[in-house]
Amino acid sequence: MTRYAFLDRDGTLVRDPGYVHRVEDYALLPGVALGLRQLQEAGFRLAIVTNQSGIGRGLFSEDDFARFQAHLVSDLAAQGVEIDATFHCPHGPDEGCPCRKPAPGLLEQAERQLGADLPSSWMIGDGERDARAALAAGLAGAVWLGGPAPAPGDSHRAAPDFAGAARLILKRPSPSRR
Ligand SMILES: [Mg+2]
Ligand SMILES: [Zn+2]
Repeated sequence: MTRYAFLDRDGTLVRDPGYVHRVEDYALLPGVALGLRQLQEAGFRLAIVTNQSGIGRGLFSEDDFARFQAHLVSDLAAQGVEIDATFHCPHGPDEGCPCRKPAPGLLEQAERQLGADLPSSWMIGDGERDARAALAAGLAGAVWLGGPAPAPGDSHRAAPDFAGAARLILKRPSPSRR
């Protein structure tokens, strides 16, 4: 059973002025490296799941996205954090794709390609659609940064920042299988 912490990127791991894609604008948010190391040490594998409609909207290219992503992954690696994979949705909101969060498509890709065990995995994000994608994919739960919990129930929780989100996940007992 491979437990994953699935990570939204923009506004969760990195500062997001809106459609962030230039390496010059890269800024890792406080508490992220520490929180990720703690999740890793507790046995979670890590993967990024990110909506990138800026590609579909023509604001930046797949190459821009890949460059920014490589910068993020290598910065995290230098801080002892290993990201297994990144899954991104390049589509616009009107394209009706199955991968744009809140749809569960990116998480289902992770299940197929990484062997992720979704019922024991968690999502950390800063948007309601992150939590809704987690719910749709049947994850153990989601932590939403900077807002009230978007869905009822103990498995959807709010935290003030990334380190707080990691702490919330790590203090919970291992989930029972559904
Ligand atoms: Mg976000
Ligand atoms: Zn998509």
